[in-house]
Amino acid sequence: MKVIRAKSAGFCWGVDRAIRIAREFATTKNKTVFTDGPLIHNRQMMETLGAEGIREIGDYQSRDAIQLSEAQKANAVMVVRAHGISPDRRKYLRELGMDFKDATCPDVGIIAGKIKQHSRKGYATVIFGDPDHPEVIGLMGYSEGKGHVVQSMADVEALPPLGPLVCMVSQSTMFTHEFEALANRLREQYPEAVVIDTICGATKERQSDLVKLVEQGAEAIVVIGGHHSANTRKLAKLATLQGKPTFHIETAKDLDPEAFRSYKVVGVTAGASTPDFIIDEVCSILEGI
Ligand code: SF4
Repeated sequence: MKVIRAKSAGFCWGVDRAIRIAREFATTKNKTVFTDGPLIHNRQMMETLGAEGIREIGDYQSRDAIQLSEAQKANAVMVVRAHGISPDRRKYLRELGMDFKDATCPDVGIIAGKIKQHSRKGYATVIFGDPDHPEVIGLMGYSEGKGHVVQSMADVEALPPLGPLVCMVSQSTMFTHEFEALANRLREQYPEAVVIDTICGATKERQSDLVKLVEQGAEAIVVIGGHHSANTRKLAKLATLQGKPTFHIETAKDLDPEAFRSYKVVGVTAGASTPDFIIDEVCSILEGI
């Protein structure tokens, strides 16, 4: 079987950077590394990092208290993951009495900066995203209590009166066409709304590369990545929207070779937190069919 691998499949630069930061503390600086929630949304990569002394301690949404003894804090560093955190959480982590390193993706930092800048001028913030996702929870912390999360047209229509100043941004991993549709609906009510497309370049590149797989003749699409990874789930949805049979798997173990026997060309892509070793294994199994 011919396998076409999307050029952008796998780690985005924000994830790569967060992993490099954590590894540098664990190896060259010989520190115990704690991360506030999973550093990235990939179980297999977190297991690999765990074996290197990088340990997840906070909860998925970065809300719970961190339980560490004084002995555990000695020679340890708290690393903030790529999704970022709220200012309150940052203050809390800084006051834990251990070293602190912020590995928030700079692209998420830009979104936080836009929200902060507008909130200070009195704007209400509307974020297009998943209210339970750690990135959105962190971003809401910059809205000075005037933030709203929307996921659908109905959510935009149900917004309470927001006053004259409204700013709309997006979680970094959403679809551009959905963001634009919701922004257009918001503008009907708030014609002066400031709308900033904050979907990151890495997300847009992965989405357009997936469409290219279909243009190159892929008869089915395999999307590799965590089932709780927002950008991977989006890729799987986009593949389905292309009208192609889509297989969202976490690792090669989830592959059923029988399901691929009727295809001559299969496209493979992977979420921004999927390590290369998993993508390589999946591609090699598919090529052998
Ligand atoms: S998906 Fe985008 S915003 Fe998220 S870590 Fe990667 S580059 Fe940064």
